[in-house]
Amino acid sequence: MKTALLIPVYNEEEVLPFLWQDTQAVLQKLPQETFEYIFVNDGSTDGTLAQLKLLAQEHSNVKVISLSRNFGKEAALSAGLAEGAKADAVIILDADLQDPPELIVPFLEKFREGFDVVYGQRTDRQKDSFLKRVTARCFYKFYNALAARPLPENAGDCRLLSRRAAQAVLRLPERERFMKGLFNWVGFRTAGVPFARQKRKAGKTKWNYWQLWNFALEGLSASSTLPLRLWTYCGFLVSGFAFVYALWVAAKKILYGNPVSGYASLMVAILFFSGVQLISLGVIGEYLGRVFTEVKQRPLYLIDEKINCEP
Ligand code: UDP
Ligand code: MG
Repeated sequence: MKTALLIPVYNEEEVLPFLWQDTQAVLQKLPQETFEYIFVNDGSTDGTLAQLKLLAQEHSNVKVISLSRNFGKEAALSAGLAEGAKADAVIILDADLQDPPELIVPFLEKFREGFDVVYGQRTDRQKDSFLKRVTARCFYKFYNALAARPLPENAGDCRLLSRRAAQAVLRLPERERFMKGLFNWVGFRTAGVPFARQKRKAGKTKWNYWQLWNFALEGLSASSTLPLRLWTYCGFLVSGFAFVYALWVAAKKILYGNPVSGYASLMVAILFFSGVQLISLGVIGEYLGRVFTEVKQRPLYLIDEKINCEP
């Protein structure tokens, strides 16, 4: 049985030596297994690629797929899965050792028990910053309230996929790839393995909060059309309210005549409803933008070079 370790890397030169050391230590404990590494270099601008090339020269089981530029982690994972789906199972790890390589052992155990998807569940996020924990929690709560298929809370990309699960993910053609949503969508027998999220071993995170916010929006709009439908309900509610108000205004006119007043209520109504309309247009725009990206049908990523991969 062959297991592929899929690791996306973007400017990780500082952490690569640690990663190699720690994963090797775990693999040595599993001598009966065959492993290969699939590093996806996501357009690094530092010494990452040079280091990967050295590793690939020394070890024939180190495959490197180097993308033509930085396409983002989701695209890098897709590129790696295309290669990894040839193995019996693929295990996705972050390069920075936040997902401890020791997870490989329980992942493979679960796989043997017949699970197709085994995800790492971050039960302990004490090492993440407070803001990150709170925003992550809010995201999962909100997402699960909207999406048709709720995500397991605090499960990241770190997981094992059987070959058929990996192939299923590859069959999903969308350009906007919210991988956690896609992994979740394919189904199959799924198990979680709890672990404590570690601190980044070296180097810096590639995400700031603005990017995370956009990522969250992408994830939501990719997995639910509820935000669009909400405006229908909102419209009904407002129309109902407007009808009642109209009756009241008419009754007042009939009973008391028409002293010219109502400037304030008029202004409030105009401002309120223009706001509501702009927001709803914005939501439609969000989805329209996604439709635009999808219809362009651009490839998800471009490969610059492949090392140690079969042609
Ligand atoms: N990564 C990537 N492309 C990117 C950003 C990140 O391949 O554009 C990789 C990065 O090298 C790491 C993983 O994705 O292996 C997770 O990134 P990071 O640790 O910065 O994210 P965080 O753990 O802070 O969410
Ligand atoms: Mg990280």
